[in-house]
Amino acid sequence: MKKKNQTSKVHCEAAYAGNFVMKVPPPVDVECRHGHKTRLFNIGRNHFVACDECRTWMWAGNNVFSDWKYESKELWEKNRESIKGYREVA
Ligand SMILES: [Zn+2]
Repeated sequence: MKKKNQTSKVHCEAAYAGNFVMKVPPPVDVECRHGHKTRLFNIGRNHFVACDECRTWMWAGNNVFSDWKYESKELWEKNRESIKGYREVA
């Protein structure tokens, strides 16, 4: 029997950055590879993902979601504080 030509499927390709696993496209679905819950938040128009267990964070795009437009500078300041001392993963 003739074998079917197999094309490699890169359909559910995931990208890795440190402890983060990004199902394409980020920031929609970013998980921690250790199974921790991740937290998505904005600082200005930029989106970030953080894992509070690993104490890491990464930039996840900008203006993908428009919710940042309805947030306050105070909240962004709080978000910035929330990852103080965390390690940046790129
Ligand atoms: Zn983690």
